[in-house]
Amino acid sequence: MSSTPPNRILSPEEIALRAGGTDPELRLMPEAGVFAERALRLRQLAANHSLRDYLMLMAVICEAQHRRLPDFPPVALPTPQQVQAASEARQPLLSIHTWPRDPVWRDEWRTLMADVLTHLPEGSPARAGVQAASALGDDALEQQAARLLTGITLGLDVGSAPLIAAGLQLYWTVLTLRAAAADPRQLLGDTNDATRCPCCGSLPTTSITRSGGKRQGQRYLHCALCNVEWQMARVQCTHCLGTEGVHYEALQPVTETAPPSRLSPIEAETCATCQHYLKILHMDRDAQVEPVADDLASMTLDLLVSQAGFSRHGVNLMLLFGDSEGGDQAPPERGLG
Ligand SMILES: [Zn+2]
Ligand SMILES: [Zn+2]
Repeated sequence: MSSTPPNRILSPEEIALRAGGTDPELRLMPEAGVFAERALRLRQLAANHSLRDYLMLMAVICEAQHRRLPDFPPVALPTPQQVQAASEARQPLLSIHTWPRDPVWRDEWRTLMADVLTHLPEGSPARAGVQAASALGDDALEQQAARLLTGITLGLDVGSAPLIAAGLQLYWTVLTLRAAAADPRQLLGDTNDATRCPCCGSLPTTSITRSGGKRQGQRYLHCALCNVEWQMARVQCTHCLGTEGVHYEALQPVTETAPPSRLSPIEAETCATCQHYLKILHMDRDAQVEPVADDLASMTLDLLVSQAGFSRHGVNLMLLFGDSEGGDQAPPERGLG
């Protein structure tokens, strides 16, 4: 395994330069502040929300992820052999199915949980759950990790899943950032499946249309695990890639003639062909939208479209529910315990 480079994060522009011509706009590496931004948005959305306690707990977890990110110890990075094999097979380099997780993630997860505990108020009902999860042994932890990474809900403890997922998100984000800093080209290769993250193979959580500069109006799918974003055309189904029968549903009724600021910043993009959907967030309608936080705060929209018969393409690892089919996340059917 190669040694770890200095923990420096490259900007998308630097990555473009070092990638030697590959268009970086097709793929955005995570920003170092990704977890801090998410926490901020969660706190904003929690005000007056029916899921306030849950969103605030997730904010505490994201703040802990942000604190741990710069101090994350060295991790094994891809070897030239691994890079070549992934490229030849057109598979994600840091695949959830095949990448050998560095055992360091487990210790870091326990440190993360300890950090969360010190920031949860005394008397918070979430404390018991965090303490119980922290006591998991290595084998049980790896078993739960494998299930939640690959969408196996049989035997998955949905109570501890968001906590374990937080540790996996942290590890994979660190891994992605450091691999990109070492050589961005290795993370820019083509893969066989445009509906999944090209770097780790996870499902997206939501998609987002970005604003400003060359990204104006471009739509990206946001990886549920490593926080990489990859571009996909607008008005295209994120599940079957079809372009016929794509419609948009929102919670607030919108009119064609309303100014952008009055259109809903969150819609469900549904596909009549394959009966799947993924939420799409619009930065030109609300500059503050964040792919994971806004997804958690808009579960009512999932209920609306799932009642109309659509299955979700995508997953939010901070909120997992019941049975799933083919790795898809089942729509939420119950409140948070
Ligand atoms: Zn990913
Ligand atoms: Zn479709």
